[in-house]
Amino acid sequence: MTQLALVIDLNVCVGCHACVTSCKEWNTSGQAGALADMKPYDADPTGTFFNRVQTFEVGEFPQTETVHFPKSCLHCEEPPCVPVCPTGASYKRPQDGIVMVDYDKCIGCSYCAWACPYGARELDPRKQVMTKCTLCVDRVYDELLPPPDRKPACVKACPTSARLFGDVHDPNSTVSKAIRERGGYALMPEWGTKPANHYLPRRRNEVTVQPDQLIRSDNPLKKDGKQPPKPAVKDPSLDDVGMW
Ligand code: SF4
Ligand code: SF4
Ligand code: SF4
Repeated sequence: MTQLALVIDLNVCVGCHACVTSCKEWNTSGQAGALADMKPYDADPTGTFFNRVQTFEVGEFPQTETVHFPKSCLHCEEPPCVPVCPTGASYKRPQDGIVMVDYDKCIGCSYCAWACPYGARELDPRKQVMTKCTLCVDRVYDELLPPPDRKPACVKACPTSARLFGDVHDPNSTVSKAIRERGGYALMPEWGTKPANHYLPRRRNEVTVQPDQLIRSDNPLKKDGKQPPKPAVKDPSLDDVGMW
């Protein structure tokens, strides 16, 4: 069975939110829209997004690192959100494994949101129906689009090519090779949900810093020429928290 999915490379994601805004733009004007925007110009804006980037700082100053973590529905192979749905609105497509919501059947009870361990579903506050990533099903099969455009809006918009799209059940696909060769992992496998989406972990890069590169006219700490001490092995790093 085909299982379409996203594979996201955390090593090159720069947290620019291009995937967030392109997802919102495509879906709010497409078949899954419109997506709610509540108080967009207020002090406390809120709304519906199918894709969000969460940014964490890890480590202790000055050995801190920032990790940008895009998250949308993972199109689980064993999705707990589907059997709890009392109306059959939540379903998994047999032909490509995309998990969808039929708005016409949804009664907005939120059972599926409670069942999803990843917080990937968002109740539309205006329509009172459950929404989530559709894997851009209305793009990838649209034969009116030129072939290069038949991929998710977020994949097309990513400026660093951090987002890959394809069939994770095809061993020769780009996504399968990336998972195999670059240590791709699924989120929280202990839940038994078998997420189709995978993440490629951050990789340690060796960078050589020359002394003259440490001299900056705008150095706020006035520590020109001094490098922070290297972290001890026991200190946490992104490599240690790769399973987040
Ligand atoms: Fe369902 Fe959540 Fe898995 Fe998406 S990530 S298929 S909403 S359980
Ligand atoms: Fe089903 Fe809608 Fe209730 Fe979710 S909110 S369980 S999709 S009826
Ligand atoms: Fe949004 Fe489509 Fe990307 Fe899903 S695949 S996060 S719906 S742009």
